Amino acid sequence: MLELKGLTRRFGATTAVDGVELVVPDGQMVGIIGRSGAGKSTLLRMINRLETPSSGRILSGGRDVTALSGRGLREWRRDCAMVFQQFNLVQRLDVLTNVLIGRLAWQRGWRRLMVLLAARFTAEERAMALAALDRFGLAETALQRAETLSGGQQQRVAICRALLQKPRFLLADEPIASLDPRNAQLVMDALRDVNRRDGLTVLVNLHHLDTAREYCDRIVAMQAGRVVFDDAPGALTPER
Ligand code: ADP
Ligand code: ADP
Repeated sequence: MLELKGLTRRFGATTAVDGVELVVPDGQMVGIIGRSGAGKSTLLRMINRLETPSSGRILSGGRDVTALSGRGLREWRRDCAMVFQQFNLVQRLDVLTNVLIGRLAWQRGWRRLMVLLAARFTAEERAMALAALDRFGLAETALQRAETLSGGQQQRVAICRALLQKPRFLLADEPIASLDPRNAQLVMDALRDVNRRDGLTVLVNLHHLDTAREYCDRIVAMQAGRVVFDDAPGALTPER
C-alpha cells in the first residue's frame, strides 16, 4: 500500500501539489487526470523522489520513504520504475541494451555507468530482456538502434526497461501524450498487462478522461495541485 499524506510541493510562489492525500492499495491501476499544470507530473516525480516534497509524507507499507537517502533511496527508486512522455531511451544504443539499463537505472549517473557495464550483463539478464521484448512483440527489434523505432515501440521498450528493474510500482508520466491513437492503445494495453499479470501497482498520468475510464480501476482528478475527484470510473457516469 502506498500512502500520500498532505503531500505538497512549492516552486517559489507556485504550489504545484497542494496537500494531496491518497491511499493506493497494492495492485491497483490508477489514472491521474487533469489539465496541463494541474500537478500530475510533480506528484509522480515526488513519489520516486525525482522531486523533493516541500512538506507531507510518502509511506509504503507503513514505512516512511519521504526522507530516504543513499542506499535506501536507491532501493526505493528501484521499487518505483518510471516511464516518461519522451521515452528517455538512449537513442544511439540498441534496444536490448536500453532494456538492460533497467538493471542499473536506479543508480546515480546511470548513462555513464551503463556504457562501462554494458559488456557485463549476464546471459540470464539478456534472456530476461529479450523475453520482455518478445512479450510486447518487439523481439525482432532487439539489435536495432532505439532511434529506428516508432514512438509507440519506443514506449514499449521503456516499459520493458522498467520491468527489468523488478519494481513494485510503475509510475507513467503522460506515457501516451505524444503517440497516435493506435500506438497509444498498444502502450495502454502493455501497462494494463503489467498491472494484471505482474501485479504491479500502476499510476498513470493521462490527458484524456476516456482513456482513464477505459483502462483504470480508479480515477483521480487534479486541479491546481489538489485532488478534486477520486473514485471508480463507474462513479463518473450515472447508471442507466
Ligand atoms: P502537470 O503534470 O499536471 O501538467 P506539473 O506537475 O508539470 O503539472 O506542474 C504543476 C505546476 O508546477 C505548474 O504550474 C508548473 O509550471 C509548475 N512547475 C512544475 N515543475 C516546476 C519547476 N521545476 N520549476 C518551477 N515550476 C514548476
Ligand atoms: P545524465 O546521465 O545525462 O546526467 P540522468 O542520469 O541524470 O542523466 O537522467 C537521465 C534521465 O533519466 C532524466 O530524464 C531523468 O529524469 C531520468 N532519471 C534519472 N534518475 C532517475 C530515477 N531514479 N528513476 C527514473 N528516472 C530517472
